[in-house]
Amino acid sequence: MRAGYEAVIGLEVHVQLRTQSKMFCACRNAAGAPPNTLTCPVCLGLPGSLPALNAEAVRMALALGLATAARIQPRSTFYRKQYFYPDLPKGYQITQGPVALVEDGHLDISGDPGVRGDDHPVRIRLERAHLEEDAGKSQHDPGGNTSVVDLNRAGVPLLEIVGAPDLRSAQEASDCMKALHRLVVALGICEGNLEEGNFRCDANVSVRKTGDPVLGTRVEVKNINSFRFLRQALEFEIERQITVVEGGGKVGMETRGWDAEAGETRLQRSKEAAMDYRYFPEPDLPVLTVDPAEVEAVRTTLPELPEQRIQRWRTDHGLGLDEAQTLAQSPAFADYFERLSRLSGTGRGAAAWMLGEVSRTLNLQGTGIEAFPLAPEVLAGLVRLVEVRTLSFGAAKDQVFPALLAGEGNAETVVARLGLAQVSDREAIATLVAQVLEAHPGPVAQVRAGKDSLRGFLVGQVLKAGGGRLDAKVVQEVLAETLAQS
Ligand code: ADP
Ligand code: ZN
Ligand code: MG
Repeated sequence: MRAGYEAVIGLEVHVQLRTQSKMFCACRNAAGAPPNTLTCPVCLGLPGSLPALNAEAVRMALALGLATAARIQPRSTFYRKQYFYPDLPKGYQITQGPVALVEDGHLDISGDPGVRGDDHPVRIRLERAHLEEDAGKSQHDPGGNTSVVDLNRAGVPLLEIVGAPDLRSAQEASDCMKALHRLVVALGICEGNLEEGNFRCDANVSVRKTGDPVLGTRVEVKNINSFRFLRQALEFEIERQITVVEGGGKVGMETRGWDAEAGETRLQRSKEAAMDYRYFPEPDLPVLTVDPAEVEAVRTTLPELPEQRIQRWRTDHGLGLDEAQTLAQSPAFADYFERLSRLSGTGRGAAAWMLGEVSRTLNLQGTGIEAFPLAPEVLAGLVRLVEVRTLSFGAAKDQVFPALLAGEGNAETVVARLGLAQVSDREAIATLVAQVLEAHPGPVAQVRAGKDSLRGFLVGQVLKAGGGRLDAKVVQEVLAETLAQS
């Protein structure tokens, strides 16, 4: 951020709900079907067809509302937002009107220390979350002559979450998008596949002089489906706007798009060309009413929320914020970690394995934790052996872990078969220490003279003499004792 300026960002996140059927008809809500096979008169907008609201989508919106401590509006309505585009067969999108089902929620995320001074949580207000329907997908021929449209997505339920302009940097916006993503996936209301467009956002951004109480004119960057693109687009846009202001100009109220290849935002529409959507109440749908019993029923289904889990892990296991957030990347990964840490008796150790060898293996295999071949019980056996220092971490990682992956038994049997049990017998180690000290009189003299950096060299020589099976901690202790004695 350039000195003297502050960025103000508000996100509008579109969450595709993973309901069985579409928002207003019985068509299946699924990706990957042949084009235009999941359609009916309702989602094709044929005359005479009538929409009927999907109760599952309402329950999913309620879950998000409860998880963000929002107010659930007992009565909300649907409106028609009218515009013309080939992927919108009805000529209007059904969305919620001035009153949304979910209003005034909030999400606590860790603030960007770069602009806040520390990483204490900041509260991001969520103005509203409303139900609406998705449009179809247009595909334009790169040659420019033809376009085709697939209406399988037309009418798929969306929950649009409108965040208040409470974010102060590109990093913070991307952290907020990630936290929302973790949340909707943990709630089980969204598949969360960004590449497929399950979860995408529009980012509104303005700049102002630090301390100025008035908000600057905002630019909307449309349709971002990657955390990295969001950060890059905002970084670019913040710099662009500051340059305009510094040059004595005014930032225009406009819509821009992120061009990932060029690495810049591009003008799409200026304020003069802003659309008039001629909103009016949807006459074919009744008022959406929710009674308190329904809300309470949804409340009983809520899991522990990702941000709470992250805080709990930080407190209970002393994990760093990044570590805990990575462990919370998906409910399945988080659950595996939780079981591993309980079974092995070490949260720190379990975290190290999850973030290290387990993640590396999953990356190599290109699979998720769901397909990880080792049961938490089996891996816990290995983590435990390292924890009680029967086995060195190096041997565990390089020899036992691959053997477990290859299905060669449990940690104990593999360690026994490969003869890897760590030597922590002080007498045996003392003998090796004595040999090493005798073989390296130079370094020994220097350590005695106070050159502590050579201690590591001597420890290394002892470990090597022990064939990599010595307990490093005991080696350090015995070496220190021996050097102090003679
Ligand atoms: P509209 O009525 O045009 O939809 P809203 O006031 O509802 O505009 O805001 C839409 C989005 O823009 C919200 O996410 C909000 O946080 C954000 N926003 C509003 N004003 C600003 C601003 N000056 N700078 C950055 N973001 C803003
Ligand atoms: Zn349909
Ligand atoms: Mg708005």
